[in-house]
Amino acid sequence: MDNKIKDIVIAFDGHSSCGKSTVAKAVAKELDYVFIDSGAMYRAVTYLAIKKQLINGKKIDIPSLKKAVDFIKIGFVKNNETGQQETFLNGKNIEKEIRGIEVSESVSYISELDFVRTKLVALQQEMGINKKIVMDGRDIGTVVFPDAELKFFMTASADVRAQRRYKELTEKGDDVTFEEIKQNLEKRDYIDQNREISPLKKADDAIVLDNSSLTPKEQLDWVMEKIFNL
Ligand code: C5P
Repeated sequence: MDNKIKDIVIAFDGHSSCGKSTVAKAVAKELDYVFIDSGAMYRAVTYLAIKKQLINGKKIDIPSLKKAVDFIKIGFVKNNETGQQETFLNGKNIEKEIRGIEVSESVSYISELDFVRTKLVALQQEMGINKKIVMDGRDIGTVVFPDAELKFFMTASADVRAQRRYKELTEKGDDVTFEEIKQNLEKRDYIDQNREISPLKKADDAIVLDNSSLTPKEQLDWVMEKIFNL
């Protein structure tokens, strides 16, 4: 496809597991833009908290986590075999660990913390300083890049989302049930939408994409049309 679009920021926000990363990644590839999965960054902090035993249920050792977050290094490196971007925490590949149910169960408690959001939002804004970036998350169009040239708000029914996630995890060999996944998605949506700082909500100028019955290719075509009609 002829790339007529230059130097813009594209934000994808929306509910858990509605395929934001899939379409955002595909758009970045079409445009030769950088793709950033901001959720992976919240997952990385959560993994660190679990590993250092700083979180137990909803109880978090705030002073110790604050110190760890001050020095945290989160990066993304492309895996040459799969072509997929993988998440690194302080130099270690943690891509597999951050996708499991243990991190998913705790991440919304970590992402409610003001110092975690301040740190990660600053890192995300730095990544977008030269534009040409596609970022997905919960607050990208509202807080991280409120001036993004194009914003999408994605959603799909909880059943469709849970089914997709269940398939993805069981194919990777994870021992999870459909119900467990669905409950986790609904719990995360609730916490994400109702937290005090940067709750998940549609930016006023975001375009809604309900992808319950769209294939990834249909979603990509739909989004690319919006980009080229900008
Ligand atoms: O996108 P993903 O499902 O991997 O995100 C994991 C969690 O990280 C979300 O449930 C949410 O609590 C948090 N998150 C956030 N803000 C973002 C991206 C993710 O609070 N921009």
